[in-house]
Amino acid sequence: MFKPFRTAAVLGAGVMGTQIAAHLANAGLTVHLLDLPAQAGDKNALVEASFKKALKLSPPIFFTAKVAHRVILGNFDDHFDRLATVDWVIEAVVEKLDVKQQLMERLEAVVREDTIVSTNTSGLPIHAIVQGCSESFRQRFLGTHFFNPPRYLRLLELIPTADTDPQVLERLRWFGQLHLGKGVVVAKDTPNFIGNRIGTYAIMLGLKAWTEMGYTIEEIDTLTGTLVGRPKSATFRTADLVGLDTLLYVIKNLYLAIPHDESRELFRVPPVLEKLVTTGTLGAKSGQGFYKKQSGELLSLNLETLAYEPAKPMALGAIEALSKLPLKERLCALYQDTGRAGTLFRQMTLDLLSYSARRLPEIADSPVEIDRAMRWGFGWELGPFELWDALGFETVLADMKAADMSVPSRVETMHHNGATSFYWHEHHVYEPGQHYVPMEMPTDEIDLLALKANPTHTLWQNSEAALLDLGDGVVLYEFRSKGNTLSLKVVEGLAEVLDLLETQPFKGLVIGNDSAHFSGGANLAEIGMMAQSGNFDAIADLIVQFQAILQRIRYAPKPIVAAIQGRALGGGCELVMACPHVVAAAETYIGLVELGVGLIPGAGGIMRTVARVSERTASLSASQIQPFLQSAFETIATAKVSSSAYEAQEMGYLPCDTRILMNGNRRLFAAKAEVLHLDRLGYTPPPEQTAIMVLGRPARAVLEHMAYVFEQGGFASAYDRHLATELAYVMTGGDLTAPALVHEDYLLQLEREHFLPLLSQPKTQERIAHMLKTKKPLRN
Ligand code: NAD
Repeated sequence: MFKPFRTAAVLGAGVMGTQIAAHLANAGLTVHLLDLPAQAGDKNALVEASFKKALKLSPPIFFTAKVAHRVILGNFDDHFDRLATVDWVIEAVVEKLDVKQQLMERLEAVVREDTIVSTNTSGLPIHAIVQGCSESFRQRFLGTHFFNPPRYLRLLELIPTADTDPQVLERLRWFGQLHLGKGVVVAKDTPNFIGNRIGTYAIMLGLKAWTEMGYTIEEIDTLTGTLVGRPKSATFRTADLVGLDTLLYVIKNLYLAIPHDESRELFRVPPVLEKLVTTGTLGAKSGQGFYKKQSGELLSLNLETLAYEPAKPMALGAIEALSKLPLKERLCALYQDTGRAGTLFRQMTLDLLSYSARRLPEIADSPVEIDRAMRWGFGWELGPFELWDALGFETVLADMKAADMSVPSRVETMHHNGATSFYWHEHHVYEPGQHYVPMEMPTDEIDLLALKANPTHTLWQNSEAALLDLGDGVVLYEFRSKGNTLSLKVVEGLAEVLDLLETQPFKGLVIGNDSAHFSGGANLAEIGMMAQSGNFDAIADLIVQFQAILQRIRYAPKPIVAAIQGRALGGGCELVMACPHVVAAAETYIGLVELGVGLIPGAGGIMRTVARVSERTASLSASQIQPFLQSAFETIATAKVSSSAYEAQEMGYLPCDTRILMNGNRRLFAAKAEVLHLDRLGYTPPPEQTAIMVLGRPARAVLEHMAYVFEQGGFASAYDRHLATELAYVMTGGDLTAPALVHEDYLLQLEREHFLPLLSQPKTQERIAHMLKTKKPLRN
């Protein structure tokens, strides 16, 4: 078992240094962030300015504002001795070999014998950075290549040198996965490691299609974007975001660093890129790159004239229909397409796949590392070898040969030995000389896909939800509705599953799923339709039923744990608030957003918010409680969503004892463990809330005044104010002349009474229709 790092230092407070420091602080470490001393005045001026700038980044780099206080700023002159106190030092200074080498030598004289030191270089040889250091230092040194932005991009490449102690590598792999929530890939000490080597190659293929093959920027982005399971930014929009100058620098360095790469010529800088950079066309940061936005219209660069033009109609043929197919079918159909689209896709794909295969074992030992690097660092849905399998191992191989592409002997041998894919049964991979071997899989994650592949694990299901057996007496209720919304079927299913929980010998229930987002909230399409057809009785019944189910969840005789991640909005948030125990991925964005669609929370969200305020202020007087209530009111009235699970605790959406995981993939495993733990302790459901403090009319007047001020300040429409007034009424306990203690049912009834009439309001119906159409709130 390894010891977790508790203190760290990051050297260099640039783009990466500040963000890496922030992420280590997110993981609970105390972090020293040092930079060059300022030439004049306060020596900390540089580091302070960088840090201030980083605090304004969006999306935020810290989980909460308070976490930023775990970072201690300093400079290389005055505070270098602080490095003697830390467990881990990460160097993230300017990309210059001599600067990094000198820093390492200085560092060696200061750090403890057990301190681990790493570099975040993206292109320099790792071993060269410490060539002047002692063997003992080199044993504790390796590359830790974070991707920008480090909080949000999952990939962490670890690059050991020949001298790195294997235990050091293992400790960092363990810490990276468990404590930093990263997907760790071990790379070789070769130019640009794995992700950027393959990723740059893919960009070069796009550039070549533009400069040499007559395809337009839009066509290439279409064929390298979401259509083929890659991010929307595709090739040219990605280049604009990265910066054309940075791209040029990367390509030039890579070209110089890979004299033996048989495909080196593809990395030769296209003259047009050089020209763009010299004329200050640098991408997003200079306002124009391959694309330019002008008067709301997106223009792209014409290769011949270098002028910006509106997108021409694409000549890619009938590929629109393909976009509806599931990914693998879509890729196969595109690969077989004989038109202009298929021709380019096939050529780029064959080129990329053969290049990736030729890089084994040069840049990584196994295809798995390359596939993971591209999925975790570049957002590709399939890595090169997964794509190869999807298109058909033999088909691709035959096409490569027909196209006269060099096929690596590794693949030839595989073929000769009868292999027909790189992967077999999900978790086995082909290893030369050994055939298929099991892949190393985390033992602290539950693989739902594998679980669902065996029908005996499905204990119950309807068309939009299922009950799965997680083993050891723990069951999982999984939503399968579109966007994991709380559709009628999901709610009905919950009722049936709660019956089963009470009658069957289960130990407890987890509510969760393996999607990117826990739940998008109520199914607005269903509710909107019922409201438009005037079916208000049915909606009233539904609300009563949903409130009752959430109360059953809260007071179930066996433990129920919500396992959440990504977005949990509206009704999804109310469901989480009802669960007595929660396991949350640190990246959880939760909120009561009902006002955005012209409603107020109607399934216990308001009641539980008021109850939490009441609990947290139990020893305070009514006037002292008022500010807490105001803050909760503002959160719901402005439909605020947390930017992390920690912030959700501060906002009152998640209980203080929520188990928050840096590695969100562990949430089902942790939730199951939580159920077993609660069961073993002898589970006691929470007591009914019979004495919730509500503040009555005087407090309502204050909240209504806040709504008035929002409106007057131009932050809210008249209808927003109306909704906020309804919210204020329920939050303060209705028509009470003075503060009082009320039962939770009292507040639930108020919620229902004020929720339903809103549905018949035209402005609410407009908001719902707009949300369904555009996925964005309407502030009418
Ligand atoms: P940056 O230019 O934003 O920051 C560089 C830092 O180095 C600054 O704080 C600067 O004050 C400091 N510095 C400059 N000269 C120095 C010197 N002589 N001695 C000590 N410190 C000096 O750069 P960045 O983008 O944060 O990159 C830092 C490292 O991370 C580089 O090695 C880079 O290759 C690598 N990297 C960058 C990215 C990225 O997307 N920016 C991604 C992965 C890795």
